[in-house]
Amino acid sequence: MDDLAFKDWLRAEALGLGFARVGFTSCEPFATEQEHLRAWFAAGRGAHLPYLEATELADPQRVMAGAQTALVGFFPYARPDAIPGSTPGSLKLSRYLWGTDYHILLKPRLQKLLAKAQEQRPGVRGRVCVDTAPLMERRLAVRAGLGWQGKHTLLIMGKEGSWGFLAVLLLDAALPPDAPFTAEHCGSCTACIDACPSQAISPFQLDPNRCLTTYTIETEAEPPPEVAAAITQSGWAAGCDICQEVCPWNAKPIFGDAGLWGHPNRLHRELASSLWLNPSQWRSRTRRTALRRVRHRHWRRNVELILGCKGDEIAKIP
Ligand code: SF4
Ligand code: SF4
Repeated sequence: MDDLAFKDWLRAEALGLGFARVGFTSCEPFATEQEHLRAWFAAGRGAHLPYLEATELADPQRVMAGAQTALVGFFPYARPDAIPGSTPGSLKLSRYLWGTDYHILLKPRLQKLLAKAQEQRPGVRGRVCVDTAPLMERRLAVRAGLGWQGKHTLLIMGKEGSWGFLAVLLLDAALPPDAPFTAEHCGSCTACIDACPSQAISPFQLDPNRCLTTYTIETEAEPPPEVAAAITQSGWAAGCDICQEVCPWNAKPIFGDAGLWGHPNRLHRELASSLWLNPSQWRSRTRRTALRRVRHRHWRRNVELILGCKGDEIAKIP
């Protein structure tokens, strides 16, 4: 099988595994982005992301020596029926947290793809990356022709929207790349910037130190008062989807398949006041979900912030 045929075969296999779109790009370092990243870190934007470093992030070959091609797949996760906060009195949890943990779901799929690729082309090496390696997945996706990074910095695939996980398979085979996506179609829209409850977005830049998701998922650090107030007011207990909800490109997005992705967890539908869980309840409710990375004490802090009272008082809420 020649390189082009191998690439077509990989794309067809990945689509068969549930990825809605698949693109290919080279593993060349992102020279311009490296400078931007350095400035971004120097400005303290990565304060809550200590595991990231500019040089490493900008060079896919740091993740896998000898990597030449990145297969980038978009796996849709939103569903029309999964609307955070739609049950009266419930907390809001990001759409990506509704089904099975995406690591559990996507890693074995790409590992299976790699194993099949190695049958097709013995000796080819690869590495599966599902949000677990220091990679600029969104930049890779743009370079692989999947879409552009909107002003909120997430990947938008045109009319197909932005509700999706990006997963990457690095390969040491030099396959012909797809044409990169060179335009951006945000135009004069500022909906995400205007709607962000904590003013975390400026055009094409996100300040994680002001984003709700940072404080409800990534770090247990106390949010600045204005961000804490935004969490309380908006009711987002884990993650935040506001900038994607208001984006016009999500008017008719690609929705994920409940059969592929699993069914919603009870946490999304229960009354907020009943979610002051003990450690074993937390473990059982978050089993096989991406919420597992949020520690129990962190969850309780988030619930307290939203309900505006401490645990013993929460128990008394009717
Ligand atoms: S996720 Fe929420 S807090 Fe973060 S940038 Fe988007 S709208 Fe703002
Ligand atoms: S809401 Fe508007 S500005 Fe923001 S990403 Fe979507 S199109 Fe771009």
